[in-house]
Formats: sequence, structure tokens, C-alpha cells
Amino acid sequence: MPTFLLTNDDGYFSEGIRALREELKSLGRVVAVAPDRNLSGVGHALTFSQPLRVRRVEEDFWTVIGGTPADCVHLGYYLFLDGKKPDLLCSGINEGPNLGEDITYSGTVSGAMEGRILGIPSVAFSAFGRDEVDFRETAKVAKEIALKVLEGGIPEDTYLNVNIPNLPREEIRGFLLTRQGRRAYKEKVLKLLDPSGRPLYWITAEEFGWHLEEGTDYWAVYHGFVSITPLQLDLTNYKAFEKLRTKF
Ligand code: MN
Repeated sequence: MPTFLLTNDDGYFSEGIRALREELKSLGRVVAVAPDRNLSGVGHALTFSQPLRVRRVEEDFWTVIGGTPADCVHLGYYLFLDGKKPDLLCSGINEGPNLGEDITYSGTVSGAMEGRILGIPSVAFSAFGRDEVDFRETAKVAKEIALKVLEGGIPEDTYLNVNIPNLPREEIRGFLLTRQGRRAYKEKVLKLLDPSGRPLYWITAEEFGWHLEEGTDYWAVYHGFVSITPLQLDLTNYKAFEKLRTKF
């Protein structure tokens, strides 16, 4: 019976972690550790500067007070798995997609990255769609992928970024291996005023858009496919060596 480590940057109370936990429990033991608040966009931050407290939510379900997704994976691995490596780490299901450059901010993807650093096969799951996410449906798809990964494994150094269209299972057109796409939106900083007239700033996006290039993560979910992008820990740009060698 496999053991899963589960986290979610939307917090332990999120619908996405609860739906995925239920599906994975039909396959094996699930140890869930998640932040006590929504930490979407926190990236791969790990808390070094202060101690952390952990609170038990239910059997095999914990929340880290003020902890990031990477903290949760770290503590889950070292505290709640009796020193045994889990068979799979799942991060999600995130409410909203994690595509293109956004994955660098993503607490969901960073949860999976942390798992991979600890030597665990790891998958990040996010839901894509305009309407309210049906986590029961997307969790069924996540379970299918978890099973495939358990059976086939994933290469060393690799973790998966999965985006699932928010559609009934029968309307999903299939699974596609994709590459990371590119955003085409304008970032913007809104200036507001507080009640005393002092400025406040709000980082936002003026408009969302994407380069609809075939083979990318965005292209896949836009067309109703589940997007599966293999990511790697090694961020080195090997193609740049040749050009930079003339300078250094
Ligand atoms: Mn999130």
C-alpha cells in the first residue's frame, strides 16, 4: 500500500486538499501537512528565521502555523513519516492554474519541488477554468495521474506540473506532455490611498493573456487537455554555455 505526502498552498481548509486527500486515501495512507492560511504566490520560501508550531487537524492531517508549503513538506517528511520515504508527494489541488512563468511564484509547484529535493517523486496539481472549480472531478483526474506515476515512476531530478481543466471527466480530451508556456500580460502596480491619504500599492495584472503556442501548458488546458509538464531541479541553461564561453 503506497504512502502519500500531501500539501496545498491554499491552506489545510481548502477544498482542493480535502478532495485530493479523499481520492488518494482510496489508494493508500495519506499524510497531509498544509499551511494554516492561504499562501498562494509564496514560492519556495523556507522558514529559517523562526521556529514553527504544528497543530493536528485529524488523523494523519496537520497544519503548520505560519508555515509555507515548502516548510510543510519538510516537516511532513521529517516528523510524520517515521523516517520512511513516501512513494509520492502530491501538492494541490490548487484553486487556479499554474502555467508559464507563474510557476516560479507558485507555492503549489514549490511544494513539489521541495519533495523532489528530498528525493521523493513529486507532482503539483492545479485546476484551470473560469467557473468555480469542481474539485471532486479534478481530484479524480489527479488520482489517475498519481496511479500512473506510481506504476511508471518519473526520472531522477524531475517533478511534474499538472494542470487539469475544470471540466467533467468525460469532457476532458486526454493527457498531453507539454512544455512551459509564456505569459502575455501586463503587470501593473495600482496606487491607492489609505484613509489618511498616504499611498498604498497593490501589485496586480492589468490583463491576462497567453501566447497560444502549440505544445505549451496553456495550449493544452485551453483546448481541454490535462497538461503535464516535466520540470527539473537543475535550472542551468546549457544552451547559453556556447555564447557565454566567448566572454568568460
Ligand atoms: Mn494556491
